[in-house]
Amino acid sequence: MASQISIHPAVDSGVKKGRADFSGGTLVCACTDRPVKVAVKGTIAHNHACGCTKCWKPQGAAFSIVAVAPHESITVLENGDKLQIVDPDALIRRHACKQCGVHLYGPVEREHAFKGLDFIHPERFQESGWPEPTFAAFVSSIIEAGTKPSDMAGVRARLRELGLEPYDCLSPALMDFIATWVARKSGVLKE
Ligand SMILES: [Zn+2]
Ligand SMILES: [Zn+2]
Repeated sequence: MASQISIHPAVDSGVKKGRADFSGGTLVCACTDRPVKVAVKGTIAHNHACGCTKCWKPQGAAFSIVAVAPHESITVLENGDKLQIVDPDALIRRHACKQCGVHLYGPVEREHAFKGLDFIHPERFQESGWPEPTFAAFVSSIIEAGTKPSDMAGVRARLRELGLEPYDCLSPALMDFIATWVARKSGVLKE
């Protein structure tokens, strides 16, 4: 039964459409005492479900919900002293709360197509109405976190049922975006 598979609590009862006029908000970690608060000014892009083992996920979720925002739109508002970088060598420098483990923002600072963007988890917005996830990335990677390979057909069927087309890397649009950046950098693409 495809519909019994939990993808993420924010989408398990159906993907909720975001508001067209969503203009950012405040991301809050899970601490009740001195929560970390991070402002995101302006809207977010490329929201999706991600099955990789690096993204932060709430307890029991097979996927994260993750999107990007320009780095200059991110401001730490409160309790930034609780933040630490999960893996300084990773492409995405994920800043997590030391106490509750929630990732607040992850800038890409290296030479890469995603340089200048920060990865954030919209479910941590204290405001509602954020743009809904539109696809699922790195779906096969959930096997690395413990999902049985034999469950994958059901997972993919459930993602399609939710309107989250499953991809085992990023979406074709984002893969083309990365390849275009690489081709321009190498000079293969001259426009
Ligand atoms: Zn916290
Ligand atoms: Zn991920």
